[in-house]
Amino acid sequence: GPAPESSAEALAWLADRGGIAGHYINGKWDALRDDFPSNNPATGEKLAGVTKGTADEVAKAVAAARKAQPKWAKDGAARARVLYGIARLMQKNARLLAVMETLDNGKPIRESRDIDIPLAIRHFYHHAGFAQLMDAEMPDVEPLGVCGQIIPWNFPLLMLAWKIAPALAMGNTVVLKPAEYTSLSSMVFSEICTAAGVPPGVVNIITGDGETGAALVDADVDKVAFTGSTSVGRIIREQTAGSGKALSLELGGKSPYIVFEDADIDSAIEGLVDAIWFNSGQVCCAGSRLLVQEGIADRFYAKLRRRMDGLRIGDPMDKCIDLGAIVDPEQLAQIKAMVDANTAGETYQCAAPEGCFYPPTLITGLAPSDTLMQEEIFGPVLVACTFRTPAEAVEIANNTRYGLAASVWTENINLALDIAPKLIAGIVWVNATNLMDAAAGFGGVRESGFGREGGWEGLMGYTKPKGKTAKITAPMP
Ligand code: NAD
Repeated sequence: GPAPESSAEALAWLADRGGIAGHYINGKWDALRDDFPSNNPATGEKLAGVTKGTADEVAKAVAAARKAQPKWAKDGAARARVLYGIARLMQKNARLLAVMETLDNGKPIRESRDIDIPLAIRHFYHHAGFAQLMDAEMPDVEPLGVCGQIIPWNFPLLMLAWKIAPALAMGNTVVLKPAEYTSLSSMVFSEICTAAGVPPGVVNIITGDGETGAALVDADVDKVAFTGSTSVGRIIREQTAGSGKALSLELGGKSPYIVFEDADIDSAIEGLVDAIWFNSGQVCCAGSRLLVQEGIADRFYAKLRRRMDGLRIGDPMDKCIDLGAIVDPEQLAQIKAMVDANTAGETYQCAAPEGCFYPPTLITGLAPSDTLMQEEIFGPVLVACTFRTPAEAVEIANNTRYGLAASVWTENINLALDIAPKLIAGIVWVNATNLMDAAAGFGGVRESGFGREGGWEGLMGYTKPKGKTAKITAPMP
């Protein structure tokens, strides 16, 4: 196969900046300290030191965002020009961004190059158009003000784009905190902002961990937009209750992948590769719960195991690799602990290299109430059970505290149309999985959170109704 992608350019880029990722406040690097390391999970090597943001530093960034906001909100055409500029510079630096993302996160370079980075760029192009339209076409809404945004490590740049692009388009300014494992692509993004002419204070990045995130939630922001675990989402909901801050939560999931006996089996198997082994299953909407109709179950599992044997796991910089490294040893230990604690069903596991890797895993013969059928694993582990009737499929699918996504596989369009609306999920795919677009709202119900990102709903989530006053004067008699 082709030689692995070179990491030289990205490593040199980091070395040129002193090997430290830190805050970007008011258009400048600020407080660069080596408080904790950011490692390459595939090799264990330290890539950079990361600054752990303090409450004072968060306050400084929020103050900069507050000061910049009124002027930024004034001119939609100017915002569009800047957002298009960001998109173009991301395109120009796509290779650096993709390699940085793969080094920092461990995901296959094929995915960061072909999916993460292009989708992030598309998000800025899409929202630039709306920035331009806001003044003329959305007379009834206005920006919220300053938005505090907290993102996870599974799609670092893409989640950044989902947060920053719509907020900026609608005239808000932002303070964003990347996840502690993956701050490096946001560091490249900061420089892109400067080069694209983002006015100082409009975009601020604060690096750090959960404590830094908690400080941002408490800071003087008008909205908190959070993507991450359901447990932290719950804390943030309590922390903001009664504060008057707007809130959106994109949380975990345990999305069902339902295969009926009349489904196109080969397509359903390929769909599963995407549903649970894309990004090693570290995907909030991963199709992590397989429900197969009883009559085809044995044949389907056998075929799936054969397909699993063909998955390649290893060096994420290798362009032929299907599964890379797990983001961090701590995360790996969590996946291991959950799978090792399970005694139910039958486990089939491929081989994986030494180090921070977890093999593609299939556990069949589980009961819908088993722990692994209920709890999010956030790794390359597919759990499965069978069902007899469509009604039973719906019942098992909805038997979870989550409601992010669902996938239905059948060649019978009547069955698909009957089942889809009965599934409790923010999005239902028919004969497809993991489809998303900047123009379509994405988000969950139940413990998967609330609020939508992308699409019209996502835009409106960064606005409020405009307060209108009119002075009516009658001519003197
Ligand atoms: P996490 O909740 O541990 O961390 C997410 C972010 O929150 C990080 O930046 C972290 O530093 C910060 N944080 C941690 N504690 C905090 C606190 N008390 N206050 C404020 N911020 C805090 O989640 P994770 O392990 O990084 O991400 C994995 C989870 O994210 C999974 O459950 C996954 O399903 C979910 N996720 C959901 C979506 C979605 O769109 N619904 C997308 C991606 C990931």
